[in-house]
Amino acid sequence: MSRSSELFSQAQHSIPGGVNSPVRAFNGVGGSPLFFERANGAYMFDVDGNRYVDYVGSWGPMILGHNHPEIRDAAIEAAERGLSFGTPTAIEVTMAEKIIEIVPSIEKVRMVNSGTEATMSAIRLARGYTGRDKILKFEGCYHGHVDSLLVKAGSGALTLGTPNSPGIPADLAQHTLTVSFNEPDEVRDVFERYGDEIACIIVEPVAGNMNCIPPAEGFLQTLRDVCDQHKSVLIFDEVMTGFRVAPGGAQEYYGVTPDLTCLGKVIGGGMPVGAFGGKREIMDHIAPTGPVYQAGTLSGNPVAMAAGLAALTALQDHGLYQVMNQRVETLVNGLQEAADEAGIPLTTNHVGGMFGFFFTSEKVTSFAGATACNMEHFKAFYHEMLKRGIYLAPSAFETGFMSMAHSETDIEETLQAARQAFASLK
Ligand code: PMP
Repeated sequence: MSRSSELFSQAQHSIPGGVNSPVRAFNGVGGSPLFFERANGAYMFDVDGNRYVDYVGSWGPMILGHNHPEIRDAAIEAAERGLSFGTPTAIEVTMAEKIIEIVPSIEKVRMVNSGTEATMSAIRLARGYTGRDKILKFEGCYHGHVDSLLVKAGSGALTLGTPNSPGIPADLAQHTLTVSFNEPDEVRDVFERYGDEIACIIVEPVAGNMNCIPPAEGFLQTLRDVCDQHKSVLIFDEVMTGFRVAPGGAQEYYGVTPDLTCLGKVIGGGMPVGAFGGKREIMDHIAPTGPVYQAGTLSGNPVAMAAGLAALTALQDHGLYQVMNQRVETLVNGLQEAADEAGIPLTTNHVGGMFGFFFTSEKVTSFAGATACNMEHFKAFYHEMLKRGIYLAPSAFETGFMSMAHSETDIEETLQAARQAFASLK
């Protein structure tokens, strides 16, 4: 029995499901999860001493690669001065200024400790600012485990929200409207019916929680237009896309400016950090300037700020993005070629450092498309890749992440494994 399997069995007794976040349990692919003990650059090493080329990157933040020396050293140096003060610190100001410099739509920003806190706070702010209760989200987009956002649509068409977890009051969920991603007509219809009751639209500008699904041409602009017409707040959840698809996120890549932006993971360089920010006029509604309450004892934690600032500073070398994007193209083109050669139906999507592959011959542009793929192929492929030292997200509904530390050799190693894995599916 591997050490990972032993630990997973042991963990079942003390941790629900043996994990501290559900997708880690390998429910999406079957089998037992690996336990990791260290990571460096493009590689992660499990407790059994195996090395993997990693395309999860701690679910996004490791854009510069694992254990980046400048980020690690900044965190250690900050830790030597104290782990938390619960008071204002100079580095929070520097961090806010850095985010504002890189993401111009953000005029003021508040730090939090996770992506969930960022989206929760942003929708409360949008509701408080507009005095409206309803929010609009998209089927297949995930924004953390916020009550109002853990709401499921029954089908593509407009659904009045029903909770998709026990513990969420139906009275709250009914304020969440859900329509299909990439269907501008559905958005316009909802706004015709409920426009003056909708506080905000929240969207992943590139959907990364139903695999990787880029916005259709003009889709994000439609969201901007309906929000302008109805005085609703447009929130981009850039927890995954921020500093990844472009330095300034999807809003820079697609040229559409939201009112509020949620950031996460990436801005902590691996430490638990999130943030939400945007127009000064809206952000000034937050306490203590305004009446919308939001707080956090450890928000702006000095160690997390030091790591995050080091990450954002390193990411200002824009040449790194070109190299990363090129590696993504080499990878997805190589996967396509390998699948074609093996006669396995496959399509791919990618934007900047995010990529996805789907076991289907149809281009995937929606949640319905993502769920219609061949899951048996995905699971089998997953384990064939894992056996060959390639660590992909253990779910067909997660985007893949490239880092700036992946070399051409790493990509070739991955494609070599993929050729064998596809061949084994025949
Ligand atoms: N928004 C998006 C787009 C996410 O992908 C995630 C997490 N994967 C979240 C919000 C929630 O972030 P966290 O898990 O840090 O709470």
